[in-house]
Amino acid sequence: MTMKDSYTVTDLIRPEIQKIKAYHVPDPDNAIKLNAMENPYQWDASLVEEWLNVLRTVALNRYPDSKMHEVKQQLRTTMQIPDTMDIILGNGSDELIQMLISTLNGDERVLLVPEPSFVMYRHLAEVAGMQYVGVPLQADDFGLDMFAMLEAIEIHQPSLIFLACPNNPTGNVFDVDDIEDIIDTSSGLVVIDEAYAPFVETNFMSRLDEYPNLLIMRTVSKLGLAGLRLGLLTGSREWIEQLNKVRQPYNINVLTQLSATFALQHYAMFEEQIKRIKANRTDLMKQLNTLDGIKVWESQANFILFCVDDAQEIFEGLKEKGILIKCIHGRHPLLDNCLQATVGTPEENQAFLQALKQII
Ligand SMILES: *Cc1c(COP(=O)(O)O)cnc(C)c1O
Repeated sequence: MTMKDSYTVTDLIRPEIQKIKAYHVPDPDNAIKLNAMENPYQWDASLVEEWLNVLRTVALNRYPDSKMHEVKQQLRTTMQIPDTMDIILGNGSDELIQMLISTLNGDERVLLVPEPSFVMYRHLAEVAGMQYVGVPLQADDFGLDMFAMLEAIEIHQPSLIFLACPNNPTGNVFDVDDIEDIIDTSSGLVVIDEAYAPFVETNFMSRLDEYPNLLIMRTVSKLGLAGLRLGLLTGSREWIEQLNKVRQPYNINVLTQLSATFALQHYAMFEEQIKRIKANRTDLMKQLNTLDGIKVWESQANFILFCVDDAQEIFEGLKEKGILIKCIHGRHPLLDNCLQATVGTPEENQAFLQALKQII
């Protein structure tokens, strides 16, 4: 009998995976949670009752509707998705990013992203072993550096480009002309990630049929349903049909399908909440701007990016005082000593400001 020589973790795990870090989600404990771009408002007790009554009808012994007809119809209505476009759903848009990457990746294929942007693009490219090219945004306003973008598109011929608009973590919207130029110039797919669409007036949804290489990604997370994990990608049938081949057949569970359908039937409530969040943002921004030693960036989303002398120190100080925000220092050269705070309720924002004043 020969002795088996067991492989070690180092032998077996792909070197690319060993090199990267897992996506870190901090434990909020009892902190005021302003680190994940969540909507801070809850539902009325009566609405919760109504929702529970819907859930009572679920047959949990059955697999969910794989075509997800009802929830798709509701999303189509709520988000004004053109009838000519098809929809694919993901367990959060994170799963859709993964599906896009695994459908398009291969050989020398490249994913191109203006940076800094949403970290999952890079993370999931690295997991899949897809080449990733980041093109720095303009340092003064985080707008697209069109010279650099068009040059990078020419050189790398990316199969896929993600444009988050409004962008996370910078909070700005990109110039419409610039986005048009990128879609026109690219021979690959361009995905506009409209995760923060509820907070802005302009989007590309109604313009999908102008561009055969354009897809739009949305999520219900930032609207106020982050716990459901539901994202969608919409575009022409040809693309969605191929993407559907890599989707896990039952990727959206029955509770999510029913809950999202129910919630979106009450869209007016979310619109009301979004209005409050935007008003809170204005107040928070105004008060942050009165503090010395911090630079605050304008935001079109439900968070605020600001830079200080020592981001890590401020982050830790706030945490000690029970306020959890996001330290994004070190993520990208343009984010040196930057912090990102979600806009909370007026009470949460005051607690955050008070704590910040004591530390700065
Ligand atoms: C939060 C966020 C997402 C992720 O959304 P989920 O549907 O919760 O996975 C995608 N894109 C951007 C730009 C985001 O900020």
